[in-house]
Amino acid sequence: MADARIDLIGLSREELVQAFAEIGEKPFRAKQLWRWLYVSGETDFERMSSFSRPLQKLMEERFVVRRPKVERDLASEDGSRKWLLQFEDGRSAEMVFIPDDERAALCVSSQVGCMLTCQFCHTGTQKFERNITAPEILGQVMLARDACDEWPKPTERRLFSNIVMMGQGEPLFNFDNVAKALKIVLDNEGLAFSRRRVTLSTSGVVPMIARCGDEIGCDLAVSLHAATDELRDRLVPINRRWPIAELMRACRAYPGVHNARRITFEYVMLKGVNDSPADARRLAALVRGIPAKFNLIPFNKWPGAPFECSTPQTMTRFADILAEEGYTAPIRTPRGRDIMAACGQLKTAAGAGFPAA
Ligand code: SAH
Ligand code: SF4
Repeated sequence: MADARIDLIGLSREELVQAFAEIGEKPFRAKQLWRWLYVSGETDFERMSSFSRPLQKLMEERFVVRRPKVERDLASEDGSRKWLLQFEDGRSAEMVFIPDDERAALCVSSQVGCMLTCQFCHTGTQKFERNITAPEILGQVMLARDACDEWPKPTERRLFSNIVMMGQGEPLFNFDNVAKALKIVLDNEGLAFSRRRVTLSTSGVVPMIARCGDEIGCDLAVSLHAATDELRDRLVPINRRWPIAELMRACRAYPGVHNARRITFEYVMLKGVNDSPADARRLAALVRGIPAKFNLIPFNKWPGAPFECSTPQTMTRFADILAEEGYTAPIRTPRGRDIMAACGQLKTAAGAGFPAA
């Protein structure tokens, strides 16, 4: 028989109050529960010591605190890790944990597959199956904190510091679930990630960009990849629906954007396609007036990919031109390529994303 208990992870504060009201408990109890879930990371009702034994028993009958199941866990030689997660319905997605010396970012997936078909992206070759739910999105964050053993809040700084919505899928096509999960991630009394340590990346779902700023308030990254509509139509097909001028207008108006809080423009470096000095100058002209920085991403290969990565000299030249134009433009160091965990390499159809161990 299916488990009829309600998973508490991913319920908003109001929904938790409601769930407790249904078993005759007062709102302040829901507040305590919130802290057990998101400050202590507790999954076992018996260890929630502020609740009486009868209440713990009742909670065990009605509720559950789940984590997504880790189907496989791969470690890269550079220290990054990729988890293949399996959800309740058997569908799967990947999350990637990327530590460096002092901090670590978690790359979170928002959809199983992707509706879009950006030409350079492995996920884009995977059929769209479904949106990832708010508890499943949040579950990825909870798992990473479990893995770092960073419950409850330690006095010293945590390693797991940043969240990037840059895994599989287009987060702004799954806005409600993403917003619900990120609100919990950002809640001061719980996981307490600061807004500047949470970045959402979009391929350019223009009508949702303002809502992202207003309702979530996290940092925004935009997958630009081309400076003309002609090229972007081909590389990032969503451009045919919302062309560059509309995208730039939405970026200019992004709530909360200013010089200390810039929009990141991601730009994948494709040899002979979008990497000329003229492309770099066009790019700088395009974003003029927007508080912006660039992230130049060396193209990561996947089986059958129709592109090659630009040469190191070309990338350096490109970055130098953007710097001359006044923009920060680091070339991102690829991470986790050996386990197919780098940007754009994720895919969970028929073993495609997990190379043989
Ligand atoms: N769907 C969202 C979130 C994915 S983020 C988006 O497209 O923005 C992943 C980032 O990696 C995006 O900027 C994406 O364009 C980029 N990317 C995709 N395939 C890549 C590849 N093969 N090599 C390098 N970057 C890639
Ligand atoms: Fe989807 Fe982003 Fe990949 Fe494009 S780059 S196919 S939007 S995941």
